Amino acid sequence: MEMEKIRCLIIGSGPAGYTAAIYASRANLNPVVFEGPQPGGQLTITTEIENFPGYPEGITGPEMMDQIRTQALRFGADIRPQIITKVDFSKRPFLCEAEDGKQMLADAVIIATGASAKYLGLEDEVKYRGMGVSACATCDGFFYRKKVVAVVGGGDTACEEAIYLSNLAKKVYLIVRKDYLRASKIMQQRVFDNENIEVLFNTNTVGLFGEDGVEGAHLVRHKGTENEEFFDIDIDGFFLAIGHKPNTDIFKEWIELDEAGYIKVEGNTSLTNVEGVFAAGDVADPRYRQGITAAGMGAKAAIDVERFLLEH
Ligand code: NDP
Repeated sequence: MEMEKIRCLIIGSGPAGYTAAIYASRANLNPVVFEGPQPGGQLTITTEIENFPGYPEGITGPEMMDQIRTQALRFGADIRPQIITKVDFSKRPFLCEAEDGKQMLADAVIIATGASAKYLGLEDEVKYRGMGVSACATCDGFFYRKKVVAVVGGGDTACEEAIYLSNLAKKVYLIVRKDYLRASKIMQQRVFDNENIEVLFNTNTVGLFGEDGVEGAHLVRHKGTENEEFFDIDIDGFFLAIGHKPNTDIFKEWIELDEAGYIKVEGNTSLTNVEGVFAAGDVADPRYRQGITAAGMGAKAAIDVERFLLEH
């Protein structure tokens, strides 16, 4: 049986994948998008998006992703609700396999599989998701103006999110499992100097409570020691900032990753270490992780593919 040949295969469907599809279809590259397990990506699990330019009244995450998807379809992108489960980047064209076992050959590939926020693994995080539990302060912080929130984590992200929230909320608890912050010294200092932030060291979260949304958290200090102490705090919002995991498992055999698993790209481009394979969005961006930056990277990747295919 003859294998399907694809000029530009896009793996993933957040703002990066769909934007790459818009640009690639307008450049006549006949892109095929495999949307992956979460069509529309992380933004589909946020509520209101108010910081994406062009939406002065704001827009919900699912609505915005649907619009970008529709825009890609308008120019002829072939968007499939399927997952790519295997790739072989050892030679061109690249052999890729979908979940149904169907194989295809791609002249160029854009990886836009995103990253997933890590959660603690508590049942209550699922119960209250979208009802007070969030993994993105920049997306959801605005809803907690003059309220009390908690941020979990001790790294740069947690400090940055706590500082961001401290400008909106009445009070921010920073829940840190160790007796120190892992964040850079300057971020630590900003947290310690901030009167709105109270750091709870040696503290773990064991549960959340509330009637129609989060009203508080059950915490434990010095867990598992003789000084173990259970206590509750009243909060309206619970933010996870314990890191993200880039979705790169199926690529790691071929693509150069950094120590946290993010795809390394060449300078300010979308080029990976494999010629003909490009990366865009959160999968290659541990730093900004915004919808608008991911969309920009998607545009860059499609332009890089166009140039690559012209040269080859
Ligand atoms: P990090 O991996 O640096 O930090 C994760 C934090 O979450 C750690 O404090 C860790 O605790 C804690 N944590 C992990 N798992 C759990 C758990 N199950 N329960 C409780 N706490 C947990 O991730 P970040 O997202 O903060 O940063 C990722 C990278 O991005 C870093 O290199 C960072 O420097 C960089 N970054 C830089 C920024 C900047 O320069 N402005 C902004 C944001 C990120 P523990 O310390 O105990 O392991």
